[in-house]
Amino acid sequence: MKALVWMGKNTVEVVDCPKPKVIEDRDVILKITGSTVCGSDLHLLHGSVVELQKGDILGHEFCGIVDEMGSGVKNLKKGDRVVASFQIACGDCLYCNKKLSSQCARTNASSVENAMYGGRTAGMFGYSHFTGGFAGGQAEYTRVPFGDVNLLKLPDDVPDEKGLYLSDVVCTSWNCVVDTGVKEGDVVAIWGAGPIGQMCADFCFINGASRVIMIDQNWRLDYVKQKYPAVETVDFTALKGTKAVVSKLKEMVDGHGPDVALECVAGEYPKSWLHTVELMTGLETDTSEILNECIESVKNYGRVGITGVYVGYTNHFNIGSVMERGIRFIGNGQAPVHLYWDDLLKRIQKGEIDPLKMITHRVRVEDLDKVYHKFDNKEDGMQKVYVQT
Ligand code: NAD
Ligand code: ZN
Repeated sequence: MKALVWMGKNTVEVVDCPKPKVIEDRDVILKITGSTVCGSDLHLLHGSVVELQKGDILGHEFCGIVDEMGSGVKNLKKGDRVVASFQIACGDCLYCNKKLSSQCARTNASSVENAMYGGRTAGMFGYSHFTGGFAGGQAEYTRVPFGDVNLLKLPDDVPDEKGLYLSDVVCTSWNCVVDTGVKEGDVVAIWGAGPIGQMCADFCFINGASRVIMIDQNWRLDYVKQKYPAVETVDFTALKGTKAVVSKLKEMVDGHGPDVALECVAGEYPKSWLHTVELMTGLETDTSEILNECIESVKNYGRVGITGVYVGYTNHFNIGSVMERGIRFIGNGQAPVHLYWDDLLKRIQKGEIDPLKMITHRVRVEDLDKVYHKFDNKEDGMQKVYVQT
């Protein structure tokens, strides 16, 4: 079968690999029909994720058709059309029983050493051996462990293109908004207008936000203005000075700033991996300007939600402001997909959410290696591709 593999820093290739087999009795072998490239995959491309190995198959958002399964899978049959959760949960542990599947205790192998890097969450498809070494879905087939838990059937009126994003981006954005407590009348500022930030904007309005302001740069904001006309925008590249974004937001929102800040960038992600290593070796760097912008922009008793993936220690953020001004500083975690996906599927069916708004390009799996570089360079405004297999 064809699959997209990581071959080294900034190098990915489509190669022929053996088709996966059922190993455990709750495994499902999925024939992939749709997948995508996520902003998080770029961290892998750049080689900034530890324990990534040459030949690892990437891809954590995918859907497909049940092709084979072990005898322990009772709720699916060959031919079922399904979407996979990006996290691999067992369905029956301390966390899974509360539907907090992103922390599944069985597929999570956190150790003290992992905690230095931020601590590992549940196993994840296509995201290095740090998250369990599970092969990803940018391929023709993949093995889904605990397939009875990690696959959701798609009804006939939800095509692959719409159902696919329940894997990650739709659930992640919903988690960001509800976990940070966005409510009726809130003014919300969102850092990062990528697919995650964009879905968050829709979800803020669904939850009653009165205004949504997105901070990013022009090529992204032009897309936002076109597709999300109710959103106000701030181009951070046009502002000068480290506190300029904070001042601009205060000026836009009655001199006091927004009620809620959502961090959907983690622009310093690769730096923060390095920073953790530097810290372990006694060196320190400053890597937290976006976090400070979030903290300092919101009103007193405002809420800050962090969905952009940070790793390990990030010093020099304004803990004094968090304490004195009563800021709720909330790590949203990796989204517990299983907690939300039934409800979000119904919202897609009702037309309340339209994931198609994010898609800018459609490609075939054979062209995925080229797509990675195009995606990395944001050529042709590429932000979310639908990969047909
Ligand atoms: P993306 O790369 O498409 O978008 C990030 C945007 O941030 C870009 O448009 C970029 O221009 C903008 N940006 C960079 N510096 C900025 C700054 N200083 N101020 C404001 N904006 C700035 O990424 P995405 O796919 O939308 O994902 C966003 C983040 O969410 C990534 O870090 C990704 O790893 C993370 N993520 C988290 C989860 C989770 O479960 N917590 C799941 C998926 C993705
Ligand atoms: Zn579990």
